[in-house]
Amino acid sequence: MRLRNIPGARETIAESEFVIHNEEEYKGKWKEVFGNDNPIHLEIGTGKGSFIMESARRNPDINYIGIEKYSSVLLRALEKMEEEEPRLTNLVFIRMDAEYIENVFEKDEIDNIFLNFSDPWPKERTAKRRLTSDRFLKRYTNIMKKSGRVTFKTDNIDLFNYSVETAKECNWNILVETRDLHKSEYNEGNIMTEYEKKFSQLGNKINMMIISQPENE
Ligand code: SAM
Repeated sequence: MRLRNIPGARETIAESEFVIHNEEEYKGKWKEVFGNDNPIHLEIGTGKGSFIMESARRNPDINYIGIEKYSSVLLRALEKMEEEEPRLTNLVFIRMDAEYIENVFEKDEIDNIFLNFSDPWPKERTAKRRLTSDRFLKRYTNIMKKSGRVTFKTDNIDLFNYSVETAKECNWNILVETRDLHKSEYNEGNIMTEYEKKFSQLGNKINMMIISQPENE
């Protein structure tokens, strides 16, 4: 994602009704934010928000939280939220680095996690920043229900292979593994992300894995 420093982005986010601020104060209380007991799904690295907005439109009985590190990117999602009619009441955003998700969510608070076209961090010395690294899988275990699933899509085959291997090494169960999602049986109901549209138009195959947590943790 090309990042530009957009003047006023931080101020707009600070004032937005769609963004939860002081997110650590809501640890264990996210049901209160939505005012119901519906399941909560997270998208980490939500980008400009197309995927999570369409998910929220299609599934009014699920609550969604989009996490994005950069103000300049999140701003685009918020602009779309402003235009949305009727208003999506089951979706909020947090501007934060996902490294700190355990400070924001309690054990068992999250049902499912979506990672879409996550940054590859190809160098070995930055591998721990990959959202499918063992460190991140451990963080997900600490906030997700036992029945929860992590769904990961990418066109980057090296990152995909690494992610499948890491999940196996960490004893996660591989429920779905496809290296050509759009031609597979799993494509039905698939919601394309901004990057997914862009890369599949270029002819890149889209990989997807769905994993569940190890039994004994
Ligand atoms: N998910 C979108 C899609 O598929 O179109 C955007 C993909 S873009 C390549 C990756 C996004 O993840 C960027 O917006 C980036 O800022 C965000 N991101 C990367 N690492 C993150 C982290 N540790 N915490 C929160 N957001 C992160």
